Amino acid sequence: MILLKSPKDLIMLKRSGAILASVMQKLQVLLHPGMTTLELDLLSEELIRKEKVLPAFKGYNGFPGTACISVNEEIVHGIPGSRVISDGDIVSIDLGVNYEGFFSDMAVTLPVGKVGDDKLKLIAATKESLNLGIKQAQAGNHLTDISHSIQSFVEAQGFSVVRQFVGHGIGRALHEEPEIPNYGRPGFGPLLKNGMVLAIEPMVNLGGWECLVTGNGWTAVTKDGSVSAHFEHTVAITDNGPVVLTKL
Ligand code: MG
Repeated sequence: MILLKSPKDLIMLKRSGAILASVMQKLQVLLHPGMTTLELDLLSEELIRKEKVLPAFKGYNGFPGTACISVNEEIVHGIPGSRVISDGDIVSIDLGVNYEGFFSDMAVTLPVGKVGDDKLKLIAATKESLNLGIKQAQAGNHLTDISHSIQSFVEAQGFSVVRQFVGHGIGRALHEEPEIPNYGRPGFGPLLKNGMVLAIEPMVNLGGWECLVTGNGWTAVTKDGSVSAHFEHTVAITDNGPVVLTKL
């Protein structure tokens, strides 16, 4: 895991996160019913290249896309392709960039057109669980204080957190130690310190927490077919508390 050693490192990571957030902002505007997930992916690559940074996911362990685009019952790692995004869908866009060796990672879940109340409530709860997790990213806390705050909020809303996929350290590589589960008892795991950089990413299902990986070897879907939402920010722990590097 990266431990920011100089103010310059934080400046570079902030720049990486700001570029990523600006790309995500533009994609939110471009997303519309009738487009395929591949069309959205190609737009994301174009926007990233225009910023003169590198897409961090493309080719990562063989992943073919620039973005992971996961629709409805897809939780994470949706491979962009011919799936048409329709009115009433919820779409998770997960993107990462590499700016001169400094990595950032973020995800949002967006409603498309007129979306049912249960899906909107799921999106709002997932976003709020991320905010609560980020608040726990403080020097002196333990890693699973983040996990516990996410799980307890999500379950109080009647939803469930995915176990099989977790957040992670980030900085000089896309995925670094430690793993950050979105569930568990508080007070365990590494002690958090200033200079740590974490990608916190709750994945929340409307139904049960179990998931399956589909035949393409990547795309995770809910076992019960219920819809799922995902939000992620890259966060630095600093003397002034948590700083969200990928703020929209
Ligand atoms: Mg991530």
